[in-house]
Parts: sequence; structure tokens; C-alpha cells
Amino acid sequence: MIHIRSKEEIEIIRNSALMDSATLTEVAKFLKPGITTISIDKMAEAFIRDNGGVPSFKGYNGFPYSLCISVNDVVVHGFPSNYELKDGDIISVDCGFYKNGYHGDSAYTFAIGEVKPEVLKLLRVTKESVYRGIAQACENNRVGNISYAVESYTNGEHGYGVVRELVGHGVGKKLHEDPQVPNYGKRGDGKKLREGMVLAIEPMINLGTKDVFTERDGWTVKTKDGKPSAHFEHTTAVRKVKGEPLSSFAPIEEAEAANTELNSAHYQQAVVSSSI
Ligand code: MG
Ligand code: MG
Repeated sequence: MIHIRSKEEIEIIRNSALMDSATLTEVAKFLKPGITTISIDKMAEAFIRDNGGVPSFKGYNGFPYSLCISVNDVVVHGFPSNYELKDGDIISVDCGFYKNGYHGDSAYTFAIGEVKPEVLKLLRVTKESVYRGIAQACENNRVGNISYAVESYTNGEHGYGVVRELVGHGVGKKLHEDPQVPNYGKRGDGKKLREGMVLAIEPMINLGTKDVFTERDGWTVKTKDGKPSAHFEHTTAVRKVKGEPLSSFAPIEEAEAANTELNSAHYQQAVVSSSI
């Protein structure tokens, strides 16, 4: 069943989604080569709880951590660990924040130091594709319009692999609700969109092929070809003319730009505004 949320409910979801953004902003300030990914998880969990929230992912189907932290060829659902970030890595951080009965869900991929231009381009295009999807999240469109917008840009225009095994979703009282929102598909296919639906739009885009596999831990999803993968996600309200992101990348981008460890010359060239 697909829920239509009231104005009041959407404001509660917006608050949770903006707390995702605030948590990811803390991550952006914290990132530098040499730190472990488990230290990021611990910092973020403390921030979430200090702000009266609960990390949505901790304990979800047995997931043991507060954040999903996915480095380089890990697509999503990576476990925070003692791995030390190094110059040239990319790191996708996915955060769920639960408060007042509703979840927000948002993800962002960061570059650490000097990252290859082709990988920075993957980050830029994947981030842009979220907004291409959001633009289609309007009354009377169907889910497939969102899917097509993401796929035609990332794969059609740029030749990247679009992950099929994992998809976006409705989000609200539960972290994962109907409908599923694939990042591939046809315009006019799927469930009809109505104003007040809230969707997590989250392209997972590979530099190489679309093929992925899951590690023996049952969670960590990696690219088969070992090439890097990017992931950006906004909790999004369906509106009359186009979707409205309830989470915001603006504070994350500001912190990212101020963090000199992330601020290589290459990176500055590739950074884009999210105000599309
Ligand atoms: Mg997420
Ligand atoms: Mg999600």
C-alpha cells in the first residue's frame, strides 16, 4: 500500500530528512585520510542520539551499525570497519534518522583527497541523476518516469552501469515502504504518483558494468568488476509539478568545500551545485 502523507506528516519527515543531512554534514567535516570508517559510524551515532533521533539502520533486519559506509567498489550496505581511508578513495555514506515516528533516508558519496577525474565525473553525474529523478516525481507521472530519467542520463548519456538488484522506495513510518523505485525502467510504467507520497530516490551507479554481488556477510554489495560505485539519495515529496527534496545536500556541500582534506584541485573542478 502506498501512503499519501498529510502536510503535518511531511513536515515530520522533512525534519528527519534534514537531520540526515545534518549528520552527513558532520561526516563531511570529519573525513580525512587516515581515519577509520568505524570512527565515522561512532561519531554519527552519537550525533543522531544527541539530537533525539534513533539511527534507522541499527538493527534493521539485523544490520549492526548506524551508517552504511561503502568504500570504492562497495556499492551499498558496507559495514563500518577498521579500514583507514586513504587519498584517492571514494566513500558512500547512507544515513537513516528516525524521530517522532517517521524516518528520513539520505546518502552522499565523498571523494577523499586526489581522486581520478573519471571517478569524480561518476560522482557528479550520479548526483545530478538524483535531481533528474526528482524532477519526474510529480502528480500523474508514474514511478517509471523517475526510473527512466535516472537510467537514460547515467547509462544512456554516460554509459555507466545502473545497479538493478537494489532500488529506491517509499519512506515514512517504516524505513522501506511501497512503492519500489528502480533506477531503470520505462516512462509510463509502474505505480501512478500522487501528491503527498514520499519516496527515497537513490541511484546506485557503477563506473563499469551494472553487475554486483553480495559478500558472505550477507550485506556488503560490491561491483563484480571491482570498479568504483557512487550513491546519492534524497527523501523526496511528490508534488504537483515536480518533486521536492526533503533532505538537502547544500550544508553537506558547504562542509565538503570547507574541508581542505577533501578539497583537491581536481575536486574543485568537478564539484557541482545541487540546486538544479
Ligand atoms: Mg539510504
Ligand atoms: Mg533508501
